[in-house]
Amino acid sequence: MDYETLREFLSSKMRLSHIYQPLLIKSLVEAGGTATIRQLATIFLSQDESQLLYYENRLKEMPIRVLSKHDVITKDGDLVKLNVNKLTLQQKAELKKICEEKLQSYIAERGLAIWDYRMLDTEPVPDSLRYRVLKESGGRCALCGATKKESLLDVDHIKPRSRGGKTEYKNLQVLCAKCNRSKGNKDQTDFRDTGSNDSKEGCIFCEAFKSREIIEENEYCLAFLDGYPVTRGHTLIIPKRHVVDYFEMFEMERTASNDLIRIIRKELLSQDSTIKGFNIGVNIGECAGQTVDHCHIHLIPRREGDTPNPKGGVRGVIPSRQSY
Ligand code: AMP
Ligand code: ZN
Repeated sequence: MDYETLREFLSSKMRLSHIYQPLLIKSLVEAGGTATIRQLATIFLSQDESQLLYYENRLKEMPIRVLSKHDVITKDGDLVKLNVNKLTLQQKAELKKICEEKLQSYIAERGLAIWDYRMLDTEPVPDSLRYRVLKESGGRCALCGATKKESLLDVDHIKPRSRGGKTEYKNLQVLCAKCNRSKGNKDQTDFRDTGSNDSKEGCIFCEAFKSREIIEENEYCLAFLDGYPVTRGHTLIIPKRHVVDYFEMFEMERTASNDLIRIIRKELLSQDSTIKGFNIGVNIGECAGQTVDHCHIHLIPRREGDTPNPKGGVRGVIPSRQSY
């Protein structure tokens, strides 16, 4: 290919889905035309914000903290300083040699596992499998619900490969880059089912879709009026998935229920000017008063005088302790 063709390719033919292509061409131009994949990977690494942030955090959490405690180094804002008098060339060489020896003997003893999943999870997931997992996920992060517009989506091993997890459909889920980074490789939670409507036979709230008037809904939650309202407008917000209690909800369901709470609050306030406050409450467990074993959040509008002595509000779960 001559210069003009390459220039033309760069300027008008190249379609980007990331910075990879121009970075690769630029790196090769700078390297005089040829480079090993390892050399290129080193250049890519130096441009990868997520990896750099990862190592900035690692540095702060681990060696900087420990070495500061021993007064070997001092951290001043973003600067890290080795606490040692001026070194001769010979002393520098000696210190570097000891570091190198320590490093090598540690690697020799522990092997590549010291680099965790970062080292071992490098085999890409085959395209067809990746496609199937992405398709089944509805193109959303199984944890926070982000789409590819909001974040890069990774196909993640539920049980990491470094721990024997296989690259097969049942061990794969979609996570956005942010959730995947926070997850690390110790957590093996399978988040895939969160978006589905799995219901429990006979559950009155699972039946809500058919039997109640839904006042508001979003992807993961819905809201309807409580059948035995404490006050007018008393609303229940429930996840569409049958989960027994609040703590079983996934983050995306909690976020979705919060969204509904905000929307319904606004609607109630706009329809009824006598509403002057709200209680939000969740009963978790029979001893805490839960009577329906499908998670629900009570949103209870409050009006002046709706009870003679409102002081203490939700403290009323133990009536004798409501007032204080
Ligand atoms: P909890 O005591 O927190 O489990 O709340 C259950 C709530 O569900 C109560 O506020 C009831 O009034 C309400 N409830 C019970 N049965 C029904 C029903 N069939 N339809 C609508 N709301 C109901
Ligand atoms: Zn249910």
